[in-house]
Amino acid sequence: MKTITILGSTGAVGTQVLNVISKHPDRFKVVGLSAYTNENLLREQITKYNPTHYYFPGGAVEVQSSLFDLIEDEKNTKCLGSLEELAEIPADIVVSAVSGIAGLWSAVAVLKRGGTLAIANKETIVAAGKHLKALEKKYGGKIIPLDTEHSALSTCLDGENSKYVKKLILTASGGALRDVPKGQFSRITPEQALAHPVWKMGKKITIDSATLFNKGLEIVEAMRLFEVPQEKIDVVIHRESIVHSMVEFCDNSIKALLSTPNIALSIERALYYPEKNNASVAPLKLTQLGSLTFEEPDYDKFPCLSIAKEMAKRGDGACIAVSAADEVLVEQFLKYKIKLTDIPTKLEKVLAKFEKIGDVQLDDVTRIDTEARKYTYSIGAK
Ligand code: MG
Repeated sequence: MKTITILGSTGAVGTQVLNVISKHPDRFKVVGLSAYTNENLLREQITKYNPTHYYFPGGAVEVQSSLFDLIEDEKNTKCLGSLEELAEIPADIVVSAVSGIAGLWSAVAVLKRGGTLAIANKETIVAAGKHLKALEKKYGGKIIPLDTEHSALSTCLDGENSKYVKKLILTASGGALRDVPKGQFSRITPEQALAHPVWKMGKKITIDSATLFNKGLEIVEAMRLFEVPQEKIDVVIHRESIVHSMVEFCDNSIKALLSTPNIALSIERALYYPEKNNASVAPLKLTQLGSLTFEEPDYDKFPCLSIAKEMAKRGDGACIAVSAADEVLVEQFLKYKIKLTDIPTKLEKVLAKFEKIGDVQLDDVTRIDTEARKYTYSIGAK
């Protein structure tokens, strides 16, 4: 039986992880849960899964205690003081499903105790991936990507010698706006941008998918996780979301991972690793698929993808700053305070301001992140 802690258990990924776990109760025991704001769902989860520890920062202290006193009495579960402390609780796998840079120090904590980190929190990989890989090697832990594309890439790379790898090819569905003319982008509402054609995900990542900034983050994520330079990473638009990513080798052969689109695939692969098991993903009926299509991304229509490629070239400092700015800007867009087209305009300014920082020590990540957020507000985010 594997013990599992889920950081961000009430979000889109966290709930799917619990869904997978509840199908295999003989194989997994939940020992830690955390939520950021959704106290009611966290309470339900604690009651159902009976973890030994949890963490909940959201809301006032009195709200927290009134909600959780009862649980603590009944269930003998303990509230910890930070996400990091929760990450330090012994667990075979810690799933990091939090959104944004808030997941950084808990990821560091897991790797510093030589633990296994199944990570969906891409902003942390983008900001500090080099440091996470160094900690993985130093303390003998393991980072397992939960992002569908990176889970697919790691499967395609399994057993391969990196010297024969020519390219990593990330597939992208194209997001909610792939067929919307560019001229309409300034009038796009949050509701329109949130209507993703394939994947049901959290709001931040869904908006990032609509601007293709998500794919830009995923380029950096792949650079850090697989330690390859940006020139070796391509993006193709693949509407059907059947091919989850590919690896091209020096003999010009391409290896791909295909499945019915379902985030549970990468979750099950992570939880069962190195075994394979399935309870969630429907079989892929090849003869009913019709055609699979691949197109070049439209960089003119989706400037956020070019900006992300630029930040990747500039190094850690630019990646931290632009990714932090994007968190601010997406939130502002969701609150109707800025237009969708303001996102790339302001990201470009943030990139210009922070592009020269270069490599960054782990202890400086939070500072640069904070400075970038302040700067983003100063240039007109409200
Ligand atoms: Mg992805």
